[in-house]
Amino acid sequence: MNTFKYTSFFLTIIFMITQNYKAISADIQKDYTSIVQSIIDKALSDSIAYQRLEYMCDTYGPRLSGSENLNKALMWIKDEMNKDGFENVIAEEVYVPHWVRGNEWCKLVEPREANMPMLGLGGSIATPKEGITAPVIVVHSYEELEKRANEAKGKIVLYSKPWLGYGDAVQFRTHGAEKAAAVGAIASLIRSCSPVGMRNPHTGMMVYSDAIPKIPHAAITLEDALMLERLGDRGQNPIVSLYMEAKTLPDTLSYNIMGEIRGTEMPEEIVVLGGHSDSWDAGTGAQDDGGGCIATWHALKLLKELGIKPKRTIRAVMFVNEENGVKGGKAYADKHKNEKHHLMFEFDSGVFAPDVIGFSASDSLMEIVKGFEKYLQMVDTIKVTKGGWGVDISPLARLDNIPVMSLGTKDEGKYFWYHHSPTDTPDKVDPVMLNKCIAAIAIAVYLYSEL
Ligand SMILES: [Zn+2]
Repeated sequence: MNTFKYTSFFLTIIFMITQNYKAISADIQKDYTSIVQSIIDKALSDSIAYQRLEYMCDTYGPRLSGSENLNKALMWIKDEMNKDGFENVIAEEVYVPHWVRGNEWCKLVEPREANMPMLGLGGSIATPKEGITAPVIVVHSYEELEKRANEAKGKIVLYSKPWLGYGDAVQFRTHGAEKAAAVGAIASLIRSCSPVGMRNPHTGMMVYSDAIPKIPHAAITLEDALMLERLGDRGQNPIVSLYMEAKTLPDTLSYNIMGEIRGTEMPEEIVVLGGHSDSWDAGTGAQDDGGGCIATWHALKLLKELGIKPKRTIRAVMFVNEENGVKGGKAYADKHKNEKHHLMFEFDSGVFAPDVIGFSASDSLMEIVKGFEKYLQMVDTIKVTKGGWGVDISPLARLDNIPVMSLGTKDEGKYFWYHHSPTDTPDKVDPVMLNKCIAAIAIAVYLYSEL
């Protein structure tokens, strides 16, 4: 490209952006107060969304990728979306990993016998049939493990770092086994990734490195991790016995479920909103991410029932396999990359009082979306901030540079109290908060679809 062409190319781009910006700015000047009020009134008087969340969790149970439960729940979602009168309701095929837990247990053997609640981590291998019985070495960081490498050989390594947030804690869940195996440990345990303990273990995904021998990897409770640590500190040399039957089977057929309202003026431009349909196998995934799925799906249902005719197509997508592979998000990106996506929205932060609409796009678009605040604050004290995110939407959003939006909630920290544990059940979701989240999502997505 020569200099002249280069300059005119950029002038054209700047002209297009300015024109687009003017058109968008002009649009949001319209007063949406009455339509927003009708969205809020209808959302807050609804009970179907919560009933469906309870029904899905109680009837189909945990929805781990590869399980029959998950596919039954997905077919139910598809049927219900058809009943809601969405257009183009489809189940798009996705092959997902199929890890099965099997029987498992963990026991303290020395200085006394006691059962310790545990959950094998997703992707872990089994122990030998006779289990693994060995002394425990407790560490708080990989640096400490390196320093004490000569003590770890033939032992079970327990990572017991105090909670500094999910991102910090999750490193030991994801990579703890390979690091422990590298210094000769024969199994590894983590203190569950949660800020609080109610003696419930939390599972989640882990990975192995091909170059290092694989060892079983499991989570124990905060309480038991601290007990083992105290025993170790006093020189009482705790011994633990671990038994796991976990195995990975061949990938299994599953589905992304989606339905939409076609746009009236620009139907070929798509606004996606969704959550992930799969969960871990310990609870019934009411918060993670049953609530996110139900909320995004019912935000679309709300717009439909109010007879709102969006300019662009709005599509609810229940992505499969976020927890251990993101195969749903990747398959969606692959199958739909030739469509024009205007926005991708995801909700996977726990259903609590809506707090922020996070948004990632250019500064000029950010300025416009800031203008949504006055409408969002009709629901609750919601701010628009930088930083939209979503694991399932990111494969396509990154590929195509699509603006990303997400909903953050006020008690987001509490999400990790339940997340991936047997306590993630519908009673942890407040019906009023679910409806408020639905209202906030419907408003943000609708206004953006009108730009
Ligand atoms: Zn999730």
